[in-house]
Amino acid sequence: MTGKRQLSETEKQKVLEQHERRCFVDGEPIPEEEPIEFHHIKPFSSGGPTSLDNIAPVCKRHHRTIGTMSLQEYRDKIELSRFFEGGESKFLDDLIRHKKGQCGERLNYEIKEGHISLYYGDSKHDFPLYACPTTKWGYFYGTLPVKYLGNDRELQPRPLREPNLWKLYRHFQINTQISPSICRIDDNGTLVLFDGQHKAAAQIWAGRLMIECKIYLNPDKRLLKETNLDAHGPYRQMSFYSHELMQKYADIFGEDWIEYMDTAGEKSESGFYNFLFHAKQKTWAQAKNEIALAMYKEIVDDEANKLSRYLSEKHRGRKQPLTFARLKKTFFQHMLVSPPLEDEFESDNDFRKDERCNLVKLMTIIAEEGLEGKWAPERADAAHKKAERIFSAGAIRAWVILLRDATNIHLKHYTDEERDRFFYRVIQDEEFKYFRRFVNKIFDHKIWDDPDPSGEIAARLSKDDATTAKSLFDEKELTVQWVLGT
Ligand SMILES: [Zn+2]
Repeated sequence: MTGKRQLSETEKQKVLEQHERRCFVDGEPIPEEEPIEFHHIKPFSSGGPTSLDNIAPVCKRHHRTIGTMSLQEYRDKIELSRFFEGGESKFLDDLIRHKKGQCGERLNYEIKEGHISLYYGDSKHDFPLYACPTTKWGYFYGTLPVKYLGNDRELQPRPLREPNLWKLYRHFQINTQISPSICRIDDNGTLVLFDGQHKAAAQIWAGRLMIECKIYLNPDKRLLKETNLDAHGPYRQMSFYSHELMQKYADIFGEDWIEYMDTAGEKSESGFYNFLFHAKQKTWAQAKNEIALAMYKEIVDDEANKLSRYLSEKHRGRKQPLTFARLKKTFFQHMLVSPPLEDEFESDNDFRKDERCNLVKLMTIIAEEGLEGKWAPERADAAHKKAERIFSAGAIRAWVILLRDATNIHLKHYTDEERDRFFYRVIQDEEFKYFRRFVNKIFDHKIWDDPDPSGEIAARLSKDDATTAKSLFDEKELTVQWVLGT
């Protein structure tokens, strides 16, 4: 629970009385011998009150997996996984029915001079009417009760996707909805939504009763269908993708990239990967490799990345502690999500840029704490020798994993997906203070200072595999627990 104030014993008792010592997540009683954790029901950060009403007890098991979610979010997440369980496609209709018990109710309306009157909730609601100058279709904007909404199977045949829905759900916990969902209504008062379904679904899941919509009156379905396809099709990239993205891989992939960006539809790493395979006769391995290399190059070429100054490929002329090949086996292998990702470029789901920034920050911390003012082959003093041991082939492979594991525990990532996407997210600057502490903890360990006349330790640290140095770490108690300890 973030931003928590300490609860006094009396306050804890009050909360327990109110909830009868039951875990708020699933209502199960918490055994007498088990410790109780207290969490916010509504997120503290999004203005949930700090009063006792907003605090509830949680069992140990659920406390371990709740991460940074509030209890309400956590319950909604569990319910969402259940909703999608079984693997059959779910549509907006299914979701509304699940939440409201009914959906697609007919909406009575009446059109008068320049406005439309809707009848719901025992009263009449007037909205001004507009006409599209091109098609002459009438439309209006309204925030309407969810039960009148239905899914437009004809214009929006795609089912809902759980990950998109969840990301938007969390997004709307702190952000406003910028553009409305788009609907149409026919003469019978059937109102269906054909664009922005995940946005609407995410808000309904969060318990909203009204959804913000732009509604067309009886538009020409065939034309609308074409327009809707166009909006997501070939014209999309023109207006929706940035110039920066268009240029991003042009140097590396040349015409392949430009040709791909010119094709119809959403653009993503996996789209490009398929394009390289199908249209460019690359093997899957080649395609994947090329995308990965482009990512690595961006990280190494980032001017903020201080660790790049210690790469042989970048700065020849004196002995350097690192090579590009070593970065691949360490930071890139363990700290980046391996391509290709399905997330649409520059969409709300695309965190590649954040991932890159996070890794550059971490690599810079490592350069500052482990190499700056220390790495000096010409002096070859004690500080340099220590740095040599820290950055020897096997050692770095082992401590990069150690650092990743410690960071994952610190960030409370418990699921495989969270662990795998460890840096593929926004991470607050605040957290990097902890990461710096972990790095220092590792570099301060006595393993690097050990006078070792036999040379055995040095030999084990430099063996270029992922296990030899690790077993030495275990013997010398350089472990995740040690890194996290104070
Ligand atoms: Zn529980």
